[in-house]
Amino acid sequence: MVTAGIYARISSDPDGTRLGVQRQIDDCRSLADRLGWTVADEYVDNDVSAWSGKKRPEYRRMLDNIKNGVIDGILVWHPDRLHRHPKELEELIDLVEGVGNIRIETVTAGDFDLSTSAGRSIARIVGAIARKDSDDNSARGKRKAAELAAAGKVAGGGNRPFGYEADKLTINPTEAAVIREMANRVLAGDSLRSVAVDLNSRGIRTAKGNEWNSGGIKRVLMWPRISGRRERAGEFYTAVWPGIITPEESDRLRRKLSARNRSTGRPPRRYLLTGGLLRCGRCGAAMKARPSTRGRRYVCPGDPGLGGCGRMSATADPLEQFVVEAVLYRLDSPELAATLKDTRAQQSELSELHDQVAADQAMLDELADDWANKVISRSEWMSARDPINKRIEQGRRRLARISPTTAIDDYAGNTKLLRSAWADLPLSRQQAIVKVLVDHVVVNPAVPGRGFDPQRFAPIWRL
Ligand SMILES: [Zn+2]
Repeated sequence: MVTAGIYARISSDPDGTRLGVQRQIDDCRSLADRLGWTVADEYVDNDVSAWSGKKRPEYRRMLDNIKNGVIDGILVWHPDRLHRHPKELEELIDLVEGVGNIRIETVTAGDFDLSTSAGRSIARIVGAIARKDSDDNSARGKRKAAELAAAGKVAGGGNRPFGYEADKLTINPTEAAVIREMANRVLAGDSLRSVAVDLNSRGIRTAKGNEWNSGGIKRVLMWPRISGRRERAGEFYTAVWPGIITPEESDRLRRKLSARNRSTGRPPRRYLLTGGLLRCGRCGAAMKARPSTRGRRYVCPGDPGLGGCGRMSATADPLEQFVVEAVLYRLDSPELAATLKDTRAQQSELSELHDQVAADQAMLDELADDWANKVISRSEWMSARDPINKRIEQGRRRLARISPTTAIDDYAGNTKLLRSAWADLPLSRQQAIVKVLVDHVVVNPAVPGRGFDPQRFAPIWRL
């Protein structure tokens, strides 16, 4: 039986996206019920400026109660409630190691076992992601947009959307009729270009008064807005404005138009975690990138012949962010520095091994020829073949263990440099860096009711 304390924190809330303290506590209490834990105390700090390093008296009191054995568990809504600075997390880790057997459960991201190195890694990565969100100057705007999207409200700024008046809420009947016509014609098989030519010839102009082109028509028809919805991070929300076409029509249009993305418009954003980097936690199959009307996703392919179970999927953006943070974290770790030293020493072995395997392979071919030409007997062939096969097998296994590390040579131990360069690196380079460190990431089933849950994803490190 675990005797737990609930920790909640009120932080600065300019965007109204932070959860009220009562809700944090209520959710933690129901989690305690589910786990069969006793709640001994609640600790609530009013940490209005989390970043100024203000003291948190209740947090301190909770740590004391852990030390004194009053509680042996912590319940918290999200891991970022507990600590915002790496230093605080390290202090907590030290405490947990000193006292031993302390359980930490979160409502949104499952349990954190700080007594194992895997659990500590996850906690550090989650901390890094939370800090990155806070550091990011645009994060505030993004959260605002997410909140607006969730509430289905109008975002500020931007031009008047075609089909609506300047308040972005009232339908413009003339333009709405044009949108319905565009939708019907494209769904019926008309090309974007032919619709544009026709609209222009009838003097119909865009919201800015320009002539139409295929890209412009496609943008309008791909818009969730015209079906009375908002989209955020791959999810649709019902908006406060009325739709001009139905959500079903919108979905059909989006499917149809994204299918021919190659020939028109912007290229879709590409996928970082391809080439077997993700594996389905149910069946072990390699997960594939699959764009959908709900955004970029990775799925376990259920299509016949592809060998997957078809029962696993993950939204691409947060998963990619998680893997990148995990890689940056790994690059900074002392373990990696040590491994890299060994690996570099092995690099000279690489070419030698490659040559050896190639030579053995050639010898096998020669033997097969000799047997075919009756130069040697079958038993001679067999007895010569076995030791060579064995050597090739050993060479291959050794090769698999030595991975070329050149992709990360510039960055190991200097993740600040990599972090600032990351967004501008070409996808192939980003993938090369990920692949040096990560053998694959196992994607486990989502726990219903959780948001992005980093514990679904288990990186299997190569280095
Ligand atoms: Zn599967």
